This record gives sequence, structure tokens and C-alpha cells, in this order.
Amino acid sequence: MQASARNTGSHFPIPPLANQSYSVNFIAPMVAQGLPALNLGVHDSVALYRELLGRAQQFASPQVSGRRVGAIAIGQSGTAYLGANIEIKGTAPSDTIHAEAFAVTLARHYGESGISAIVLTLQPCGSCRQILAEAGSPELTIIILNSETTAVLYQETITSLFPLGYTYATQAQNLFCHPVLLLEAPTSSECQLLAQAFRKASQCYLPNPERKTWSGIAAQLSNGKVYTGSAITISGPNPTITPVQDLLIQLISHGENPNEIVTAHLIEPQEPDYSFFRNTEAVLEKIAPCATIHRTQA
Ligand SMILES: [Zn+2]
Repeated sequence: MQASARNTGSHFPIPPLANQSYSVNFIAPMVAQGLPALNLGVHDSVALYRELLGRAQQFASPQVSGRRVGAIAIGQSGTAYLGANIEIKGTAPSDTIHAEAFAVTLARHYGESGISAIVLTLQPCGSCRQILAEAGSPELTIIILNSETTAVLYQETITSLFPLGYTYATQAQNLFCHPVLLLEAPTSSECQLLAQAFRKASQCYLPNPERKTWSGIAAQLSNGKVYTGSAITISGPNPTITPVQDLLIQLISHGENPNEIVTAHLIEPQEPDYSFFRNTEAVLEKIAPCATIHRTQA
């Protein structure tokens, strides 16, 4: 992964912010650079973050809850990553993507070394606290802004919000900073999608190396573009971000329609400790029912 955010050259139209006090540059629909640090004592600063949270909420797909949740993860580079809840009616509750997980995963995709803060419209659930505890910094600040007023509801570190958390993560090894996995390539790797899924699988976060749970996915859209995802296996491990969830986050954050997936290829180990194939099938059946899904076990 590359250090600091890169320009994706997104074709997606990005309307300017209404708040004229600051200059913010969107390099992708959900990625903004030039953001000032949130100053809770300055009205315009709080108003800017509230507007960004509102923009994040526009990307939500609350098919079950009807509630749009927004998040802004601030990367160590200063770049801001928006996140929203993605719910897929008819799938397992664990297939839901929470706004916090979305924003953190997006920051990871852009090669951040960690996040310094996350700004939210709601208090994070227990699963998201577990994910934030594996983001590498005990000083990571969680800020909750009231969507109705400019009042700040909460500002605290993850350590205060999630004391005695259960995790294999350390400041040296966490979901942002970890070694690339050395995997044995499948013998039938002439398929381009399989090759990309395999390369992505090597970027899995696997804090407990005794678990055989690595997995990657690559999907081609009708416009020919290919997007990928890998497993982010949280210590818990129930809040784990699955390869298909990582894939959806990449698609949605680039302004793509997941319904346009034509073919997807998932790769995982022989006899994995956790398999991601059934949940991938279930999710794609709902969002891209015409897609063809392949699995390779290596
Ligand atoms: Zn959550």
C-alpha cells in the first residue's frame, strides 16, 4: 500500500461544500484533503464537520434500519475518509457494514499508517469499538457530534471508551501496519481476476497467525473496471470485515454501482478456519444477482 492518499481520478461529480470558511479538496467522492483539524471551540469548524457528516450520510444504504449513519476517519496524513452504513436486506446481520468500519477500511485502502480521530453521528457499537481498538493508537479520539445542534456529545480516547479491550493488535502491528502475508500462489493463476484476488489476499490483516482465515476477492464490473477486497480479521473475531464488504466499500467510495458486478473471484485456503464463500454468495445474490461467482482454494 502507498503512503498517504492518492488521486483516484474519480469521474464522480462532487458538489462543493456550502461552508465557505475552509477550502477542502475532494479527491474521490468520499475522500477529502485540506481539512482543518476539528476545533470544538470554533463554530465554523464544527459546522464544517457536521456538513461532512451529512455528506457521508448521503452514501448510506439503510435498507433495514432506515437510519443513515455517518463517520469521518482522520488519517495520520490528515486526509479525511467518509463512511456510511450499508445494510443489505435479506442477508445476515453480520453482512451489514457500519459507518465506522467503512471509514476505517477506506483509510486503510488509501495506505494510511493509522487514524488519529473519528467523528461520528452516533455513539459506536461494541463491534466498532473493537475495530477502532485495533487501529493502532490508544490516543485515537472519538468525537460524536449532535446532528441537531452544534453541541458536541462526546470526545474521548478509544482507551477510555473501550477499556481492557481484547485484542492481538499492538501499536507495531495492527490493521493499518502489518506484514504482507507470504502465500503460496494457486497453480491455476492464469485467470486475471484470480491473480488479483490472490494479490489482495496477501494484504489481509491476520493478527492471530495461527488462524487459517486469509481470503481475497476481485470483481469485474460491466464497465470493465476491477475492484478488490481482502479479509480484515479482527481479534474478536465477530466484527471481521469480510472480503466482499471490503470490495463493496471500494466500489461505493468510487461512485460505482455494486449491481454492475459481472464476475467475482474469491480465493481462500483449503479447509479454512473461517470461510468467506457462503457470505460472499449471499451478499452478491442480493446486490448483483446476475453476477457469476468463482472460488479457488489454494
Ligand atoms: Zn458499529
